[in-house]
Amino acid sequence: MTHERNTHAMRQSLRCGAKTRKGTLCMSPAVQGKTRCRMHGGAAGSGAPMGNQNALKHGLYTAESRAFTAHVRETLRRGKEHLE
Ligand SMILES: [Zn+2]
Repeated sequence: MTHERNTHAMRQSLRCGAKTRKGTLCMSPAVQGKTRCRMHGGAAGSGAPMGNQNALKHGLYTAESRAFTAHVRETLRRGKEHLE
């Protein structure tokens, strides 16, 4: 029995998308503002802090570095065009 009339609002909430051992989605209610439930990494205080740099090795692929590379490429392309 689904008790549609009483549970409809509750069932509208975002569901956890974590994959279970069965291969299906978890489907437990996600923690507010997150896409995972409290059992799958949605708990308060879990996850990396904002601005975490623990995995940074050389910074070659940071947004800043990529923007600079794109700028250099664009400038070189324009210079080539200018020479033609
Ligand atoms: Zn979950």
